[in-house]
Amino acid sequence: MRYAETGFNLEIDLSRGNIERVETDPRETELYLGGLGTNAKILWDRVPPEVEPFSPDNLLIFSTGLLCGTPAIGCNRTIVSTISPQTLLMAYSMMGGFWAPELKYAGYDKVIIRGKSPNLVYLWIHNDKVEIRDASHLQGKGAIETAELILQELKEPKAQVSAIGLAGENRVYFASIEQGRSSASRGGIGAVMGDKGLKAIAVRGSKDVNIARPDELMELCNEVLEYIKVRAENPIKGVPPILAGLGSPQEMAVHDEEWHTTNFAWGNARYRIKDYWTEEVEKKWTESLEKARERFISCYNCPMKCGATINVPGLPTYMMKCYSKLTYTMAAMSDLDFGFRIAQRATEYGVDAFSTPQVMAFALELYEAGILTDEDMPGMPSDSEERFLWLLDRIVRREGIGDVLANGTYWAAQQIGKGAEAYAHNNIKKHEQLPLKLGMLNPIYFLMYCTGEKINITQIEGQFPQAPFATREEREEFVKDWIQVPDERFKQYFLDWELRGENSIPYYPTPEATCEIVDWQEKMHYIDDALGMCAGLSSFPLKPPYHIHNYPKFISSGAGIDMDEAKLTQAAKRYRTLVRAVNIRRGMRRKDEKPPEDHWKKRFPELEAKLLDTYYKYKGWNNQGIPTKESLHELGLDYVREDFLQRGILTDDEGTPSKEGLAKREKK
Ligand code: SF4
Repeated sequence: MRYAETGFNLEIDLSRGNIERVETDPRETELYLGGLGTNAKILWDRVPPEVEPFSPDNLLIFSTGLLCGTPAIGCNRTIVSTISPQTLLMAYSMMGGFWAPELKYAGYDKVIIRGKSPNLVYLWIHNDKVEIRDASHLQGKGAIETAELILQELKEPKAQVSAIGLAGENRVYFASIEQGRSSASRGGIGAVMGDKGLKAIAVRGSKDVNIARPDELMELCNEVLEYIKVRAENPIKGVPPILAGLGSPQEMAVHDEEWHTTNFAWGNARYRIKDYWTEEVEKKWTESLEKARERFISCYNCPMKCGATINVPGLPTYMMKCYSKLTYTMAAMSDLDFGFRIAQRATEYGVDAFSTPQVMAFALELYEAGILTDEDMPGMPSDSEERFLWLLDRIVRREGIGDVLANGTYWAAQQIGKGAEAYAHNNIKKHEQLPLKLGMLNPIYFLMYCTGEKINITQIEGQFPQAPFATREEREEFVKDWIQVPDERFKQYFLDWELRGENSIPYYPTPEATCEIVDWQEKMHYIDDALGMCAGLSSFPLKPPYHIHNYPKFISSGAGIDMDEAKLTQAAKRYRTLVRAVNIRRGMRRKDEKPPEDHWKKRFPELEAKLLDTYYKYKGWNNQGIPTKESLHELGLDYVREDFLQRGILTDDEGTPSKEGLAKREKK
């Protein structure tokens, strides 16, 4: 019997209209867990590097996490993986909500889409009945509107729908997949869905998911619920409100936005307005939030209520969560009312709330600099807010200059030329990053920005405080109940981290300690992405309920896989390396691993090179960031090694194990 997973994937070929239910190999689950892990294996096996993002041979995989559908609290993520049109690398965006558990209850772990439909279609998955249905009447409809229309059409109000809006249909490189209470936004996965002619996937399931040891799992779940309560009553001291709790409910509940508005950059990720947050602004923003927010809402099986329904007079109600509250507001140099207004339209269009505002602000900067002219922007209004709405409409329709901007700042700048490249200054691996411009290089963030393959820093960081606390007493207080650290020495790294002096950034933490901290943070995100756990309860906040010490018990009792910390660490390392291997095979190298040039004012080229060298070595990668033959062998990825050798990515004499390395392995 299979536990936690169903043991079946749905394979849909949209070119042929073929639907297959395919049994999966349980050994793959042991090796790669599920979610992102098994997605990476499928992309490695079936999407060679020659396949372009908009090729019928590119796969679009909607995956549940291994523990989705079990009682594990907050385990509800859908992991969508494909080859991104924007980065040309593997995209693996996640969404919360209810879709993934529903798919499990319908009897499937993944939906794997290949080919392209000649006409716009949607999928209807209802337990064993799976249909490809005509969606021509949904063409041009908003993502949320589409979901509502499909529910009415199917007469299944409890079905869960993931859909694209106009942006996805028109292959906008930063198009999202929306799902009512959440969205998978990064990497342009909505554009791939649109390219395949797939408007939506509706799913309804009523089957059971088997649990290996239910009593044990329930006990663990109760411990998590108890911990969430304790943490709600004891917010972390010494950090801004946004970092003091779990999940991201603060965004929709808290009025104090001083941290974001003064630390994050405005406009096209350009300016920090350090004195923005005044009593007057706070009062106005408080009123705006209270007026617009209808009620708080949660994802499946989670008490956190991170999201909220937003009702702006004259517009349909929609759901907002997390930092999208501020992205449009700050890019347009406007206020919260405007942010709520434009986010409604953007959600219906289905666009990424990080990239889209930056693209529009980039266009306006080019216009102010005379690189784009009235000829490029005929009829553009003079008012800043109206300009944003005007640009948004043109981008999602790919009209005029919108057709160029729809490719994101990196590709748009290449197309526009005339020095526009200098204005596309906030990209990592060709993708817009969070709009941050800071002072002094932070070694931990430097490595995360360079080597993160999920691109968005919020999906890489977490657990270790972003900055040192001012006094040793505060730090001692913080580490007292820090049970989540993988090892006691992490507490020492934090205790010794000072605001100023020898033990301060950029030279502290030391490169060696920095590597361990970055690796820990990344590992937790990768585990979440395989299990389907919300990062808001695990890898992202400080002191979360899920951590490396209790995760193995969840996997053992839920999925019946014999698991301990060492095995879990090894599995996460295996599929993390596989994600890198997919990207290396697509040409990613050290030259691509850098933060935006102007991310920090003070840069240290020698230290940065040393950090990267040390981290590559720590991870078992060579100085180009390519996993070595030895490390691939240790992870059971010999098939990757063979492929790399055949393609000349690795050579026979490169990465040959040293005598010491071989001796160590023998000993193990
Ligand atoms: S913590 Fe928030 S975002 Fe995460 S599952 Fe719960 S409600 Fe959803």
